[in-house]
Amino acid sequence: SLRRETRQFAVIGLGRFGRAVCGTLHKLGYEVLGTDINEALVAQILAEKLASSAIELDSTKPNALKEAGIFEFDTVIVAIGNYLEESIITTLNAKEGGVKYVVAKASSDIHGKLLQRVGADLVVFPEYQAGCDLAHVLTQNPGVMERFELDPDHSIVETRIPEEFHGKTLEELKLRSRYKISVLAVGKDDKFNINPPPQEKLNKDLLMVVIGSNKAIQKLPI
Ligand code: ADP
Repeated sequence: SLRRETRQFAVIGLGRFGRAVCGTLHKLGYEVLGTDINEALVAQILAEKLASSAIELDSTKPNALKEAGIFEFDTVIVAIGNYLEESIITTLNAKEGGVKYVVAKASSDIHGKLLQRVGADLVVFPEYQAGCDLAHVLTQNPGVMERFELDPDHSIVETRIPEEFHGKTLEELKLRSRYKISVLAVGKDDKFNINPPPQEKLNKDLLMVVIGSNKAIQKLPI
């Protein structure tokens, strides 16, 4: 048989979350099959061209999944957040059918634990995650361009270089002791200087990548 070049995705449940996953994967150029028990949602996703193909099926029935070829997909996303029983049974069906990577949406902690127990490889909590992200966006230092959250209290961020740092060297600024952050890189999107030496002069038109606590990053005078 032909070796597949690209990954294929199947999304089960075309509610708000499933539709967003489906449409985004499709726009990124991946082959994605959308399924729902609700015929109208299946028709809608096809009409809006948010999936390569779409089928109406009841995912709690292993045979329905088998007939639709769902078990042949590399990645199956179970996007049935608000129907606990259906979500658990569907995830179990996908794992028992041999799907390698099953991602499931949980709507509560206990839902997440159950999904893990039945074999979900990745459990996501979109409402919880969106709430955390919103709080960060609302309170984030406006100079921060990108954030990589290491743990709930520490991040690596890409920020503008504050005006008051302009023309000063890292040594003079003593960012480690004064601001409790470490500068990992300085530069622009097309070229960053990694591990800049203490003599490196900062320029307000450049960006810097720093690591530190969220509180420390918040205090940068940007
Ligand atoms: P959201 O919160 O993202 O809008 P919901 O959890 O409310 O998502 O929607 C889940 C979707 O899953 C609904 O469109 C529903 O019709 C579908 N669904 C529920 N049960 C099944 C099932 N047994 N088989 C397939 N799809 C299902």
